[in-house]
Amino acid sequence: MGLFDKFKEITKKVSEVEDNIYHEKRDYLEIYERNLQLEKEIAERTKDLNVANKRMFTLQHIWDMMNSSTPLENVLEAIVNSTQGELGYMHCSIIRKYNDENGDYLHIIAQSEDGLIDRLNNIIGSPAIQTRRLTYSPESIFADTMRQQTIIQSKAINLSLKSILPEVPDETIMAVVTNQPVKSIIVVPLYTQKKEFGWFCVFSSREELAASEMDFLGLFAKQIEMAITIADLFQAVREQAVTDALTGLYNRRYFEEAIEKEVQRTKRIKQPFSIIGIDLDYLKRINDTYGHTFGDIAIKTIADVLKKNARSVDVPARIGGEEFNVLLPGVGSDGAMIAAERIRKSIENAEIDTIGHITGSLGVATYLEHSDNIEEVLELTDQAMYTSKRNGRNRVTLAQNINETSWQEIAVNTFLDILSKNRIPKAKHLSKELCLKLQAPANKDEVSKESLYTVADMLTKLYNPMHSSGVIKNKVLMAVSLAKRFDLSKADIDNLRIAVLLYDIGNLMLPDELLQKATPLTDEEREKIKNHPIIAAREILKPISYIQDVLPIIEHHHENWDGSGYPNKISKEEIPITSQIILIIDEYFALIEQRPYRNKMSGKDALEIIKADSGKKWNDTLVKEFISLIEHDIV
Ligand code: GH3
Ligand code: MG
Repeated sequence: MGLFDKFKEITKKVSEVEDNIYHEKRDYLEIYERNLQLEKEIAERTKDLNVANKRMFTLQHIWDMMNSSTPLENVLEAIVNSTQGELGYMHCSIIRKYNDENGDYLHIIAQSEDGLIDRLNNIIGSPAIQTRRLTYSPESIFADTMRQQTIIQSKAINLSLKSILPEVPDETIMAVVTNQPVKSIIVVPLYTQKKEFGWFCVFSSREELAASEMDFLGLFAKQIEMAITIADLFQAVREQAVTDALTGLYNRRYFEEAIEKEVQRTKRIKQPFSIIGIDLDYLKRINDTYGHTFGDIAIKTIADVLKKNARSVDVPARIGGEEFNVLLPGVGSDGAMIAAERIRKSIENAEIDTIGHITGSLGVATYLEHSDNIEEVLELTDQAMYTSKRNGRNRVTLAQNINETSWQEIAVNTFLDILSKNRIPKAKHLSKELCLKLQAPANKDEVSKESLYTVADMLTKLYNPMHSSGVIKNKVLMAVSLAKRFDLSKADIDNLRIAVLLYDIGNLMLPDELLQKATPLTDEEREKIKNHPIIAAREILKPISYIQDVLPIIEHHHENWDGSGYPNKISKEEIPITSQIILIIDEYFALIEQRPYRNKMSGKDALEIIKADSGKKWNDTLVKEFISLIEHDIV
């Protein structure tokens, strides 16, 4: 081969290699570009996956809530709030369709906390939104979704709003729509057990509805349907249950029904029946020392004792955490005391692993012997049980007849009832200490009276830090001295003593800021301070059957002689004299006490002010007697 040929060959090879390189470079570029594209896709998919993951977590969280005993309202609130947050909606709500004598209507049973409804209502100002009760129209997006059994999205916000709020003028609806960035409303129909339930309703700031979004809305709607079905099933099971899960004893509901039947039966045959109340002693200590499981074992031990001791007609029931009642049909108080003593002994003798021995405090009351009012019999059982606690626990006490009970016993039991059942949230931290004070052995009258005054003083200090100890006692003594000048009966005077201890208890339900405000009150605040305590006192005391005669005294202690007081604006003799006595004494002590907004007054100046209101707040005779009482210092 000549040189030229060789050169040609080499050139050809070079050009082949060059060609190859060029092609490979193109391939590389292509691969590189494809990789970039893939990476982008992966990033997007990951983002989608993250969102889906988060939503799955939310669904999981809701599922967990549904499986615990979380109340349905809370589950539904969680669902609307998560949907609103996760899917970036402006608002989500769950609406239920109801029917009453006026026809169909809608009720919002859950709404997300985004403020949208408040903002809308600021423009609309419809009471329907406040009460969450809306109109149902067969010509609406709601009716359409039910008919078509499908999710519907609509951009006609005004029509949707108008259908549920037909009373709102069109201009107002238009103003709402143009003022808000809501672009569409999405409505998902809800069914439970194949029946129409209502709607899952969403306000979106987007006009479009992506397929994945629709899937998620469907999933959330399924969760709502499931939550409602589960709650309904729980409710049905709960309603059917007659026994308590921990102990196997009858539950409170069954016990109450049994008592009602027994009352009906007893009325026909005029035969008494008894109730034994049992409370486990020092359960808190057992829980604290050995743990809750052993507390439960102690509770079960009492339940076993009750089961063993019960005749077939008796109804032993667990009516609260550590409280039990036994209904003994046809048994009078003598028989019931024997049965109760047998129960007490068996509890004391039971041998429990690790804990050793436990005891219970028992009370016994008998229908037709102690009272022919069943509510009163139950209260008396409770009181007798408290007396057992007070006298050292591990004992049985027979109820006393209502009219044989001293006023201080009634007052002690009232405070114990209020405190142990935490009827006043503000006093919760003190309740144990105060109960102990009240439960100190009551052999001497004076001891329990003094602890009553102390407890009333301590409760008063919770809402009035300037209150001085001893004032309540002085008020009671002064009220009694004044009452004696009006020839009141012993029963009236006893009720007055209890009323003086309790008349301001409703103040404990007022917010602190209001009570300790140093600046003058607004009209609205004054109204609240005026009426609220009386309402609150009634609410706190109403369930306590044995002090019902004290309630009217408390309710009228702000009525004025001339009818200008509150709450009922009654006047003159319509007002119980005992309420007038409280009004005048309360005013006197308030005037001579320091207040955040004024200095304390001398007794003499206070009397002048009281005199000035003679014939207005109180009648002349009362003022005269009061002044003579103070001036002669006969307290
Ligand atoms: P007392 O002798 O005055 O009755 O004292 P106590 O500790 O038994 O009563 P208190 O009312 O101070 O406390 C009752 C405690 O019982 C508080 C509560 O946590 C506990 N308890 C209520 N129900 C149950 C329950 O079902 N299981 C357990 N382990 N403890 C319960
Ligand atoms: Mg107890």
